Amino acid sequence: QAKPDFVNYAVVFDKKIHQNVVKRLQLENDLQQAITNNELHLNYQAIVNLKTEQINCLEVLVRWKHPFLGLVSPGKFIPLSEETGLIIPLGQWVLTEACQQLSLWQKQFSHSLPLAISVNVSGIQLSHPELISHIDRLLQNFSLTGKHLKLEITESVLMENPSAVTKVLEQLKQRDIQLCIDDFGTGYSSLNYLRYLPIDTVKIDRCFVSQEGNDKNYDILKAIINLAHSLELNVIAEGIETEAQLQMLRNLGCEYGQGFLLAHPLNSQNVRNLIEEQFGCWYSA
Ligand code: C2E
Ligand code: MG
Ligand code: MG
Ligand code: MG
Repeated sequence: QAKPDFVNYAVVFDKKIHQNVVKRLQLENDLQQAITNNELHLNYQAIVNLKTEQINCLEVLVRWKHPFLGLVSPGKFIPLSEETGLIIPLGQWVLTEACQQLSLWQKQFSHSLPLAISVNVSGIQLSHPELISHIDRLLQNFSLTGKHLKLEITESVLMENPSAVTKVLEQLKQRDIQLCIDDFGTGYSSLNYLRYLPIDTVKIDRCFVSQEGNDKNYDILKAIINLAHSLELNVIAEGIETEAQLQMLRNLGCEYGQGFLLAHPLNSQNVRNLIEEQFGCWYSA
């Protein structure tokens, strides 16, 4: 006698869930070892002054080269690391590595570089009691100042626990560390926090930049740029891929931009070449 269909569905469905759970556990397990096995490295993407075309800052983007799977996207392993708490050691590794790299460039270069790094931090890192002392130690160990460091935070983080977050942000500001809201426009719609949080910069999400023909996106871009300026915040547009988008952003008075048209995320050697092109020469080869 034939079983009703749903019984088979249930079996198939279960198997799929099971496979996914196993995969996830495997990835989680692998990620745990990624740091000690030297599987992580950093890329740097230039944030450019749209008027002068000079590099203003480098955004630090973590990469994981899995021994069998190859490159795993941070869109996948960052959320996983947040769910498992691994974001704390991973985030510390990123901050350490990035500060070390910048200080190396500063030392190798013939004069002090007017260049900062911009590091993405997750909400979990921001509420970790040791974040500030960790950053203090890094700045000291690598002879950097707060002006060399920017932190990118997403909107949702700011809304989760505003009073606790505000305290941390104020401590960071006391060190001259610049604070930037990442993916602006995609999270909570409350704009009130822009008035009372010590934020320096908003980074407009690339979804508003990507279709320059779309009237609604154009209006939103214009509104965000005007709002930011009236609050005396800097604006960075993310995801600039075409000349038309670049032109549109310039016309709207957006001062900074980032995207494949301007520069791809690059490894440290290629960034070094970029820095050399712009700022001059190194002490050593
Ligand atoms: P994000 O901070 O918004 O970073 C920008 C993402 O857009 C990067 O993706 C970058 O490669 C990509 N991108 C840059 N220009 C363009 C463009 O012109 N077109 C398109 N289509 N994409 C562009 P990536 O490196 O895959 O990173 C994805 C996200 O993962 C980041 O988004 C950030 O939220 C997170 N992430 C990356 N590194 C770290 C990290 O060290 N710590 C934390 N907490 N999150 C990180
Ligand atoms: Mg970012
Ligand atoms: Mg972003
Ligand atoms: Mg993002």
